[in-house]
Amino acid sequence: MTAFPASELSRIRSDFAALKESVNGLPLVYLDSAATSQKPECVLETILDYYRRSNANVHRAVHTLSARATEGYEAARTRVADFLNAAPEGSVFTRGTTEAINLLAYSLSDLVLKPGDVILLTEMEHHANLIPWQLAAQRKGARLRFIPLTSDGRLDISAAESIFNEEDGRIRIMSFSHVSNALGTINPAKELAELAHRHGSLAILDAAQSVGHMPVDFMALDVDFLVFSGHKMCAPTGIGALIGKPHLLAQLPPWHGGGEMILSVKYDSATYKDSPARFEAGTPNIEGAFALHRAIDYLETIGLERIHQHTCFLATEAKRRIEQVSGFSTLGPSGERGALVSFTHPEIHPHDLTSFADQRGVALRGGHHCNQPLMRKLGLPATTRASFQLYNTPEEVDILIDTLEKAVRFFA
Ligand code: PMP
Repeated sequence: MTAFPASELSRIRSDFAALKESVNGLPLVYLDSAATSQKPECVLETILDYYRRSNANVHRAVHTLSARATEGYEAARTRVADFLNAAPEGSVFTRGTTEAINLLAYSLSDLVLKPGDVILLTEMEHHANLIPWQLAAQRKGARLRFIPLTSDGRLDISAAESIFNEEDGRIRIMSFSHVSNALGTINPAKELAELAHRHGSLAILDAAQSVGHMPVDFMALDVDFLVFSGHKMCAPTGIGALIGKPHLLAQLPPWHGGGEMILSVKYDSATYKDSPARFEAGTPNIEGAFALHRAIDYLETIGLERIHQHTCFLATEAKRRIEQVSGFSTLGPSGERGALVSFTHPEIHPHDLTSFADQRGVALRGGHHCNQPLMRKLGLPATTRASFQLYNTPEEVDILIDTLEKAVRFFA
């Protein structure tokens, strides 16, 4: 793991206007990219350019601007599919990860779940990969089970094997995060997908914290569905995707009804288009798709493996050094990790710590990180999280550590 050379980092940083902001008279140190990343100028320009030159609704008219908008929207779909080694017909645009999981929890549950069946999640899931399944389980009379964690915050794979054996074919859906937004753990997605398939279950990957942070290959991982959000990878909010194996998406019933998802409509019935149109009722986020396309181009020019090496270096370095600051402990495994680290101090509440850091221009996140059951299990009310993207620097890790040392002197 190595950080980008300083000259490359300063070139990357010059692409992000927001990083030049001052906060309380100090340069912004933005360590909250796991919540949402900043956006480079080329993505902002793409949005403006779309509205200036191509603004029209997609798929509905033959006039030139509509053709341009449709072409760009479909080119974005092909780009997303290429980026993740998936099929364009298996790439459905959604508002993001949350909407994509809700789509699956609705449609896939209708297709595969019967009373008594089991949905297998893990103890580290974001609420976005928990609540939709609670609702689905209530609707279908199914049960939820959870893969437990090891003491260092990894998934206990042998416990997962035992759960599959105990349930003896009743687990129909397994849904798990690729990278935990609370612990930074990178889960062995391919191994878990194989385990699920061996026991007759489908595998869904919540890739909100991995796509756009590291290379992700849908076909190589062999999960059945993968979901992600554009806004954590330099694209705007309100755009993301559900990636699915085409033969599975072809069987899923629609979930939102409306314009553009139909073949023919009578007053009392309708027939539906194939995927992806079947799942994209109504006017989509057209400029979001254009901008996601541009964000992927931007990240790929730098290289996803290189971005992972850089952010993993920052996160592991931050973890190592936070543990040396008096009283602080960190969460999650040592070694390779996603681009974030969460930490606690017995005498400093995360909300006090994040306010203290904000006074110094440092943007951290304190709270339960949409992982309340995990926090309860760990006996923590909340944690503080520092998260990184390609534009963060080793000097910002120094500032983080200095801020924590000052906080200890101030509060403890
Ligand atoms: N899953 C994980 C692991 C996440 O980190 C997040 C965002 N914090 C989500 C799901 C939800 O993503 P979104 O709010 O973009 O739908």
